[in-house]
Amino acid sequence: MSINRDLPFSQWRLRPETGEPSYSYFARLVADEGHGSMKVYATEIGINGRNFVPDELLHVLQQLPLSKEEHERLANATPVLRDGIYHIGREKVRAKQLSFRQRRFCPNCLGDKLYHRIQWDIVVASHCPIHGTRLIDLVDGKKLGWWWPHFDVSPEGETLINRRKVEPEQFRPFHEMLRSRLELGEREQGPTAEFELFDIIEPARFFGRYRREGRFVHPRESPTGDIEAGFALLTTPHSERVSWFAAWYETVIDPQTRRRGYAASTPSVAKMNGGRANNRLWEALEQAQQEGFARVGTLGRKRTRRQLDRSDRTLIEASRELKVPPKALSRFISKLGLLPDAKWNGDALSIDPATFQTLKLIIDDLITLPQTTAITGIPGHEFRPVARAGFIQEITELPIAGVKGPKYRAGEVEQLVERLRTMTEVSPTEGMKTLLGLARTKGVSTAAILLATLNGGIIPAGVDRSRVGLRSLYFADWAYA
Ligand SMILES: [Zn+2]
Repeated sequence: MSINRDLPFSQWRLRPETGEPSYSYFARLVADEGHGSMKVYATEIGINGRNFVPDELLHVLQQLPLSKEEHERLANATPVLRDGIYHIGREKVRAKQLSFRQRRFCPNCLGDKLYHRIQWDIVVASHCPIHGTRLIDLVDGKKLGWWWPHFDVSPEGETLINRRKVEPEQFRPFHEMLRSRLELGEREQGPTAEFELFDIIEPARFFGRYRREGRFVHPRESPTGDIEAGFALLTTPHSERVSWFAAWYETVIDPQTRRRGYAASTPSVAKMNGGRANNRLWEALEQAQQEGFARVGTLGRKRTRRQLDRSDRTLIEASRELKVPPKALSRFISKLGLLPDAKWNGDALSIDPATFQTLKLIIDDLITLPQTTAITGIPGHEFRPVARAGFIQEITELPIAGVKGPKYRAGEVEQLVERLRTMTEVSPTEGMKTLLGLARTKGVSTAAILLATLNGGIIPAGVDRSRVGLRSLYFADWAYA
């Protein structure tokens, strides 16, 4: 099959659907070309086929002569990473709240029309609100990768669609809200309407873990949680919330523990993607939680709400909240010079709220080597030598939530990439080579070229800002001698 030299596809009789992201439309066009792999096709037309970037696919699709409305439809349903947050139309979600690495779907929706709906990529989504069906993420016992461009059958030939008429057995406001915001571009009515999607998802997910199968439980017994129960709590009036929490403490926490006070009775707030600060929804829930506790437990004599919030944390408490082992955390605090006057005698270390917030901001900003690819556009192993040469900080020995390996501050990676991208403003011309192209021609690593550039040895000859990260750079053929 030959590929059109000017356009990425030879035909586009299929058109983008409402709520369909770039990677779904791209996949459908790949299948329509008679190709069997989205990965291979993407690579053939010169874009990242292994770990596609939705924005990059969108950019490719923008070359097709679709109507203005169709282009808008596609752009509105495609996640675009900007300042570390994914923008989908007018909505925003954190990177951890979105996952498009594997395909998830409602077989009944596919029965209605063969394309992928963007709201299936929200990690906490579990059901289709139209059909009430549980979203499917395993086909033939395996995860289905996006390399597969078909929506009707699996690679093994199993059907992915279900044309049987089904009705939801219950109303799912959270899932309705996701569909309304992401697929239809409309916000729901009610108290959550003014909030960003990520501010809704975080507390809904956290307090959703207070319930399991309709019963109150401790969140450690409910790692997945009931997202609908958590969302319901966000739309409940304050007085009812207070009663809800009072009932929760009475059911889940024994009276002896409740006599020891609020902190002893309350599950520690796990690190929730950094969104808890400045989230008014979350604060309102905590207020209700404390009032609820006051009805059934013993508040310390002097422990009013304000003082509770200001209390220091022990190293163990901080380490639990940040999901970093105590020893590694203490080394990290010391390396950052955050508590210069502290006595470094292990557990006795006390961390004041301001220091804790600073730590939390830094830790929330950290990304792993594979995660740098979304910003740099090049594989982690090609980027690491640049980090190790001291152009940005590399943080080692800091496992977060059990994830080991080097970490980087997302902000620093973004700045470095921007520094390289602004070295020239010239648009690439014929004969210039991409970063990867130059590396291949000269038989050196991409990292070597980047280091030479950062050290002033060579200067990029052109830049195409529509390409992701460092893939935007172009060089003169003779640049690297
Ligand atoms: Zn459905």
